[in-house]
Amino acid sequence: MFIGHNAIGFAAKRFAPRGSLGVYMAAVMLPDLIWPIFLLLGIEQVRIHPNRNPFLILEFVHYPWTHSLLMTAAWGAAFAAIYWTISGYGRGVAWVFSGVVSHWILDYFTHRADLPLYPNGPRVGLGLWNSPPATIAIESAMFAVAVLMYRNATQPRDRIGSVGMWAFIITLAVFYIFNVSGTPPPSVRFLAIGALTGWIFPFWAGWFDRHRETREPAE
Ligand SMILES: [Zn+2]
Repeated sequence: MFIGHNAIGFAAKRFAPRGSLGVYMAAVMLPDLIWPIFLLLGIEQVRIHPNRNPFLILEFVHYPWTHSLLMTAAWGAAFAAIYWTISGYGRGVAWVFSGVVSHWILDYFTHRADLPLYPNGPRVGLGLWNSPPATIAIESAMFAVAVLMYRNATQPRDRIGSVGMWAFIITLAVFYIFNVSGTPPPSVRFLAIGALTGWIFPFWAGWFDRHRETREPAE
C-alpha cells in the first residue's frame, strides 16, 4: 500500500491534534523509509519482474527487519519511546505506535503472502494487489477521506499552511499515479535510491502543519 499509509497519518492528527503531522507521517511510513536503506546495505532483498499488474512488479524476497509484524511492533515501540521522551504527549505516543503497526496491517491486506510474522517466520498477506481497480479505489478513498478529516480539523495560519498542504497532497497523488502506471524500475539500486525520496514527506508535512492550527482548542 502507498497513499493508504499517508491516510492514517492525516487521520492521526484529527484524533491527537497536539502532535505534529510530520511525526505521524514518519510513523506510518517508517518501514518504507528504512527499507531502501536496508536494500542498499544488502540486508534485505527485492526482485523486479515486469508485470501487467503494476502492484506485482516487485517481489519482496526478503524483508524481515522492516516488514515483519514483530519487527514493525519493535520499531513502533522504539519510535513511541523516543516520542514519549521528547513530547510526553500520551495520545500522540499511542498514535505513533499504532501508526507504525498500521503499516504492517495495511500491507497485510494488500500484499501477496510475503509479509513475515517474525524474521524467518510464516509469511502472510491477503493479496488485494491482485486486483488493481479494487486497490486503487480503496486506497484513494481512504486518502481522500483522511485529507478531508485533516483539513476540517485544522486551518491555515498563512499561505504555507494552505499552499504547502495542497502541494504535498498533489505530489503524493502524482507519485501514486506514477507507481500504478506500471513502469518497472531499471534496477534495484535505482528503486532504492528513488524510494529514499520518501524521507522528504514527513519533513514536508511537519513544515506545513506548523503553519496550520487546530480548529477546536486542543485538550
Ligand atoms: Zn511497506
